[in-house]
Amino acid sequence: MATYDYLIVGAGLFGAVVANRLKEKGKKVFVIDKRKHIAGNIYTENVNGINVHKYGAHIFHTNNRQVWNFVNKFAEFNRYTNSPVANYKGEIYSLPFNMYTFNRMWGCITPEDAYRKIEAQKKESGITTPRNLEEQAISLVGKEIYEKLVKEYTEKQWGRSCKDLPAFIIKRLPVRFTYDNNYFNALYQGIPVGGYTSLVEKMLDGISVELNTDFLTDREYFSKLADKIIFTGPIDAYFEYAFGALEYRSLNFETEILDTDNYQGNAVVNYTSKEVPFTRIIEHKWFEFGKDSNGNDLTGTVITREYTKEWAKGDEPYYPVNDEKNRVLFEKYLAKASEEKNVVFGGRLGEYKYYDMDKVIERALSTAELLCSNQ
Ligand SMILES: Cc1cc2nc3c(=O)[nH]c(=O)nc-3n(C[C@H](O)[C@H](O)[C@H](O)COP(=O)(O)OP(=O)(O)OC[C@H]3O[C@@H](n4cnc5c(N)ncnc54)[C@H](O)[C@@H]3O)c2cc1C
Repeated sequence: MATYDYLIVGAGLFGAVVANRLKEKGKKVFVIDKRKHIAGNIYTENVNGINVHKYGAHIFHTNNRQVWNFVNKFAEFNRYTNSPVANYKGEIYSLPFNMYTFNRMWGCITPEDAYRKIEAQKKESGITTPRNLEEQAISLVGKEIYEKLVKEYTEKQWGRSCKDLPAFIIKRLPVRFTYDNNYFNALYQGIPVGGYTSLVEKMLDGISVELNTDFLTDREYFSKLADKIIFTGPIDAYFEYAFGALEYRSLNFETEILDTDNYQGNAVVNYTSKEVPFTRIIEHKWFEFGKDSNGNDLTGTVITREYTKEWAKGDEPYYPVNDEKNRVLFEKYLAKASEEKNVVFGGRLGEYKYYDMDKVIERALSTAELLCSNQ
């Protein structure tokens, strides 16, 4: 007899939500994670009162009321609205492209002015069937915005020329003819007060969790602990890279604690020129308006420079590479996964898919629901 109904490998968002729901349904659940902390990539660490997003900036946003109600059971969300700015060689532009951007770029005052300017540039490009990302972007926003705000940033992000990237990566580019800097046009948006780690901690309340524990180092032992396993680690690692490694884009984070109270005046500043080696700087305190939980101003600041790089085995995997080669490889792993009757693969690594947090929660809620209805 196994001790638990479910062993959940991974205490990230997917694992924590499934664990929470299964426990609520009366199941005996055990969670392990190979890292020394819970919360996976949404982990935040308190540094001098500032919640630092250790694996990149995370802004919660969703149109799904069920997901919003669900997360609000575990945390109070502040009214943070993502309004990043772009720095191109010292010129500051609002993102996503909106009337502030067009005013700064061309002096346009009215939506009509801006619309005409963009349409003229699109027409001038003469592109009808875009063959790559560069042509796709120019056909959507014209040459000037492409050159200052898209081209070099995208090339840093993907490590290759926009001419060599497929057009589908940017099916759409958000262009707004309003004075609205809200990046995510979602119904609900915010940052959990006190950070994401505390939110996940509450999801895992009353559940046994063991950290610094890698399932793959002794899978035979761990498999005997439970009737079913939910695996949220990399699917190719689970199968010992039988068909080869799935590829990712990886990131390097360079974090600094600074004496100043205000380094850049905004949580997220994208550096869109190739002269700057990093893609963006995050100033973490602005996710919570520079205040502590009592509304007092925080002193000092913490910033993180984010660099993207090619992934090599052993690096932290971040963004799945959406190309044909990796799609075919993933299909092979998926076929193998369907033979594992007592293992469910989930989350961004188990499904080799970029998921925003709300989508991860949706998937986790439906996975838990399905598991319980099948019994
Ligand atoms: C840079 C960046 C920024 C992002 N920003 C946003 C944002 O602003 N808004 C948004 O909605 N989403 C954002 N996301 C997406 C968000 O990070 C994911 O939706 C979420 O973290 C996925 O959770 P997960 O549980 O699937 O994966 P993870 O958080 O990766 O959790 C998987 C866990 O499994 C553990 N694990 C793996 N293998 C093993 C093993 N063998 N044994 C034990 N444990 C194991 C890992 O240590 C990890 O803790 C961003 C993603 C990135 C990369």
